[in-house]
Amino acid sequence: MEVKTSLLDNMIGVGDMVLLEPLSEDSFLDNLKKRFDHSEIYTYIGSVVISMNPYRSLPIYTPEKVEEYRNRNFYELSPHIYALADEAYRSLRDQDKDQCILITGESGAGKTEASKLVMSYVAAVCGKGHEVNKVKEQLLQSNPVLEAFGNAKTVRNDNSSRFGKYMDIEFDFKGDPLGGVISNYLLEKSRVVKQPRGERNFHVFYQLLSGPHGLCVTGKLKLDRDFSKYNYLSLDSAAVNGLDDAANFRTVRNAMQIVGFMEDEVQSVLELVAAVLKLGNIEFKPESRCNGTDESRVKDKNDLKEMCELLGIEQSVLERAFSYRTVEAKMEKVSTTLNVAQAYYARDALAKNLYSRLFSWLVTRINESIQVSDAQTKARHKVMGVLDIYGFEIFEDNSFEQFIINYCNEKLQQIFIELTLREEQEEYVREGIEWTNIEYFNNAIICDLIENNQNGILAMLDEECLRPGTVTDETFLDKLNTICADHQHFESRLNKNSKFLNDHSLPHNCFRIQHYAGKVLYRVEGFVDKNNDLLYRDLSQAMYKANHSLIKQLFPEGNPAKVNLKRPPTAGFQFRASVGTLMRNLQTKNPNYIRCIKPNDKKASHIFTDSLVCHQVRYLGLMENVRVRRAGYAFRQPYEPCLERYKMLCKRTWPHWKGPARDGVEVLMADLQIPAEEIAYGRSKIFIRNPRTLFFLEEKRKQCL
Ligand code: ADP
Ligand code: MG
Repeated sequence: MEVKTSLLDNMIGVGDMVLLEPLSEDSFLDNLKKRFDHSEIYTYIGSVVISMNPYRSLPIYTPEKVEEYRNRNFYELSPHIYALADEAYRSLRDQDKDQCILITGESGAGKTEASKLVMSYVAAVCGKGHEVNKVKEQLLQSNPVLEAFGNAKTVRNDNSSRFGKYMDIEFDFKGDPLGGVISNYLLEKSRVVKQPRGERNFHVFYQLLSGPHGLCVTGKLKLDRDFSKYNYLSLDSAAVNGLDDAANFRTVRNAMQIVGFMEDEVQSVLELVAAVLKLGNIEFKPESRCNGTDESRVKDKNDLKEMCELLGIEQSVLERAFSYRTVEAKMEKVSTTLNVAQAYYARDALAKNLYSRLFSWLVTRINESIQVSDAQTKARHKVMGVLDIYGFEIFEDNSFEQFIINYCNEKLQQIFIELTLREEQEEYVREGIEWTNIEYFNNAIICDLIENNQNGILAMLDEECLRPGTVTDETFLDKLNTICADHQHFESRLNKNSKFLNDHSLPHNCFRIQHYAGKVLYRVEGFVDKNNDLLYRDLSQAMYKANHSLIKQLFPEGNPAKVNLKRPPTAGFQFRASVGTLMRNLQTKNPNYIRCIKPNDKKASHIFTDSLVCHQVRYLGLMENVRVRRAGYAFRQPYEPCLERYKMLCKRTWPHWKGPARDGVEVLMADLQIPAEEIAYGRSKIFIRNPRTLFFLEEKRKQCL
């Protein structure tokens, strides 16, 4: 947070929100708008970068710009994402500090673009040479592969990432990249079987259908190019302006090759994608049984046949699995029939599982290619992590997915506060300045409400999912009401003693959590089902029996030799565990923040919708962010540049001060009668408590010039 000249001179609005005076939500928004209107899309909060999506290409990512920001101090030039990337990379290379870049914001705000800008900047400034270039190329090319399988067109973003991603890039002691590791979080697998109005399925489906004739139509895949032939592809939005599926398919195939996929692996992957499309076309009809119930039968067997041929599955096995399910209890197998609705449910569950497991497999496979060898791991190396993950979601209708995503954001906020304060504290210790306590809202209490092992919401959901007897979303909500009744951050109307009993904004089947970023109403419908994430065993066994090595690998639990009556971990449990691992990883690194903001809902350039931006500023906790940065001492600056800038304000320091700069600064401040409590003198820097003091100095200086 050192104040260098350029942040104060010739700036449109204020380049660093910490300097905003007076500080209010209005002045914060005005400043963002003013800068946005002048194509200044980046603004700092101390070392945090706020990034506004311009929705048009700006000439600010050229090789010349890279050179401009290279090896320069954060505050020397106007705010830019390159400044953050440069600072992070240099402190990794020169000071041996592992870094992480945390990018948050709502869908369409520019997170993924930002992560790619950081990666390409680092790739541009780090080492050269044949081997190094190959590593860089592989790391960068992992993006198009994952985007094809994990991104989709949504109402908010034509290329929306439907998964969270964290990538560790590893460097050797010289700062040359060695490789990386990718972790993925919570792919939105429901999209495979159904897309909201105006949205598409994952890109790869359309890309494949637009692929070469010899591959997708006449070849083994036997696909129809007409998107409308497939139940799992929505009709109304198949073609997207500016999106060339055929060209992108070539890009993806090329990227897969660079990353190191073998030809037969690519073929297997495409077979699975095709199989999902065919699976979606399998339909069911009821067949009456003598006991008066209906049993499901596959309607037209052609798609079933094609799918089975593609994956080497015996048709009768899969067909049976769509009519019956086997329940194993106490060494006994009981077969029950599926009705039509259950058969559709089973079909969709299989499609979602197939696709999401394929996606995880892709990540694992990419990691095998880009991972650092054992010998290299043993040598000292440094790491830069880049996290591109969904921001807070507050929709009209919030379900299990939003609950999980918002939980992750609570954890990120916690780590933000912890690390920011730790950084502050360490600097104070280094500089020998007394630590002043910073007042802030600690959201640990909300994290605890969600993740506590005994009575946290996720634990109770798991308990409910595992309980014998009739388990419904309502019984889960009842349980929450009994256990969380007194929690300050939990509200529900069903709760008998609740003060919310007559609150009609709180419907019966909902609960509300007061998150650090605001209140969110969650509808419990689907919580139990989504958390269970069950696939009938008959289906996983059918997949395991497939004569197709990839699909076999994806369903290890279908191996009859390994019958395990213990059920797999729930979705919530897995997510909590992976968030835990992520947090432990981030904690060991020096954090760098990019907060992305979407200026309007139209994907349009030049439009700044105040209400929309205001909403994001609130839930990104940006005001809190400025306050934490301003608490204690808002500014600090090494003595030499400070003296240099202000020495003209005092006869005793002008034009030359003989002696240590620190003494000169003390004389200067005393002469200007700056109150003692406004200033602390550290070992190498002066600390200024209030931005107003700085403006006072700046004002004086302007009068002198
Ligand atoms: P998110 O990952 O936050 O959902 P994206 O990074 O995919 O959002 O950005 C959505 C779209 O906005 C991009 O496809 C691109 O068209 C545009 N965009 C984002 N950042 C920039 C930028 N810095 N410059 C130009 N366009 C951008
Ligand atoms: Mg994205």
